[in-house]
Amino acid sequence: MSNLKLCQGPDCHTYTTKDRLKGMKGSKTYQTRRRSSFYYGNGNFCSFRCYNDWFNTYGDRAIDHFGRTTEPKHLTEDNAWQKTYDWRASADDSHRYFFVNGITKERRSLTEEQYRDSNYTLNER
Ligand SMILES: [Zn+2]
Repeated sequence: MSNLKLCQGPDCHTYTTKDRLKGMKGSKTYQTRRRSSFYYGNGNFCSFRCYNDWFNTYGDRAIDHFGRTTEPKHLTEDNAWQKTYDWRASADDSHRYFFVNGITKERRSLTEEQYRDSNYTLNER
């Protein structure tokens, strides 16, 4: 029970599906879904509907809290590096993972470890 996560959708309990109906006979209530894992919104929501409900309720405040984009961002050579991989290459091929620059199209090889490290980037921030 303790390892189960609750769906963060503010209205999850209002959707009257059979799997949400819980409790002792005679006092069952529709409850927020609880599961070991969810597939939506970084594992926080049981469904796209709940994910969307959260955004509709809190999205504007979240954007204002973390900083609303007020100027267009620009893609330049310095921040156009994207990680990608060649799915046809064999697992031991050193050119399987690489950066490709979206502006210059230059490629630079990556190790698998660098590919999986979400903090590893060539982009200037
Ligand atoms: Zn939900």
